[in-house]
Amino acid sequence: MSESLDLVWNSVLSSLQSDLPDDRDHAWFTAARPLALTGDALTIAVPNGETKGGLERRYRGTIERLASSACSRSISLDILVDANTKASQQSAGKDAMVLKPDETIPLHPEYTFDSYIQGQNNRLAHAASKAVAERLGRAYNPLFIYGSVGLGKTHLLHSIGNYVRSTSRDKSIVFTTSERFAIELINAIRNSSTPAFRERYRSIDLLLIDDVHFLEGKEATQEELFHTFNELYGSGKQIVLTSDRPPEDLSGLQERLVSRFRWGLVADIQPPDLETRIAILREKASQRHMEIDDSILELIATRISSNVRALEGALVKALAYEELQGERLTPRTLEGMLPKEGRRPRLNIAHVKDEIATRYGFAVSELEGPSRKKDVSQARHIAIYLSREMMEHSFPTIGKAFGDRDHTTIMHAYSKIKTLVKETPLLQAEVSDIRESLASRYSTIS
Ligand code: ADP
Ligand code: MG
Repeated sequence: MSESLDLVWNSVLSSLQSDLPDDRDHAWFTAARPLALTGDALTIAVPNGETKGGLERRYRGTIERLASSACSRSISLDILVDANTKASQQSAGKDAMVLKPDETIPLHPEYTFDSYIQGQNNRLAHAASKAVAERLGRAYNPLFIYGSVGLGKTHLLHSIGNYVRSTSRDKSIVFTTSERFAIELINAIRNSSTPAFRERYRSIDLLLIDDVHFLEGKEATQEELFHTFNELYGSGKQIVLTSDRPPEDLSGLQERLVSRFRWGLVADIQPPDLETRIAILREKASQRHMEIDDSILELIATRISSNVRALEGALVKALAYEELQGERLTPRTLEGMLPKEGRRPRLNIAHVKDEIATRYGFAVSELEGPSRKKDVSQARHIAIYLSREMMEHSFPTIGKAFGDRDHTTIMHAYSKIKTLVKETPLLQAEVSDIRESLASRYSTIS
């Protein structure tokens, strides 16, 4: 019985893996432990109310759907808060925890140079990262790595941190994301503790900042980062940044910041070629101590070409299949499990509605319907906002898709979220999460 509990939970995790937008969401799942599968209820334990709330809000529907399909019957989810869950999870050596606003992001122990496969696509970024890790502040400063989602930028950034940590214990390293940097800054301002904040950031040896494209439009944060940058750079401390596009395309960033990003080395990561994709899959399978047929690896690598995270997701699905069904996966069965085309489908409003409904635990019909309940209407407004931002649909078109609402209602919802996003870092982080998740699965280029 307990074995099938683990299997079901693992299959939920594997199906989710490729879709989780960022590390916070990963953290919620890593912190969760499956407890029981009895009748039609799956019970899991989480360490605190925050994790429970996050899972409830964003993933209840998805977890239930995935568990139901794994069990071939309808399963409902029951989440218990148990502080001990945390203890066992920490002792398991996992880094993932829900972070308080003033905690730093831990380095991911599995993201190392050793587990990073080199290929033509990442040669420069990889070599430069190693050089920087070996000669802090003296090789390339700053190092700016860019590439589209799921190509290994975050992995490289952690690798630099892990390398420095293991070779020079006395170096102080901070890994952060531009969003977390923004949130910390705002907290510091709120608590009148900006001097401490500055002191902390300006006294480190290695600053790793992930996803600086999210700084667009955040004036105060850019200002602060500009000064932090100058201070660190001036005293020969190493800075590494990642972004989904090259510095010159960061149009919402102050010119003086962008020009500093280009002072050192700018290195891009391109999608991996077939050979590199196969090598990555082999590495991921061996990390999980799993044997898998070359024919299966090759098929996955042939069918998924643009995003390593998606590649990994497909591998995990294939492995879970063998485990759950207790039989070898054939290329023919696998065909049916992989996305139909190599190309990502074009994003449409239905995809946005689905994503929002799943995350916030509502039905799509509620988003379209008349409910004025606060959380339903906020979710609806976010969906409207994203439909406009990501697809540039006209307000009347969006109105039609949301229960035939009048275009002025849609315009109002759109500008409301636009303002809220500017003013609320948490909502901004949330909305960019959703954006990134959608962009990693659908094409938004017309
Ligand atoms: P990004 O930050 O560019 O969106 P990530 O660093 O999060 O991408 O990578 C997504 C997943 O793909 C991670 O699990 C990472 O380990 C894996 N990955 C990407 N590139 C490589 C590579 N060259 N070798 C091994 N794993 C990789
Ligand atoms: Mg990343």
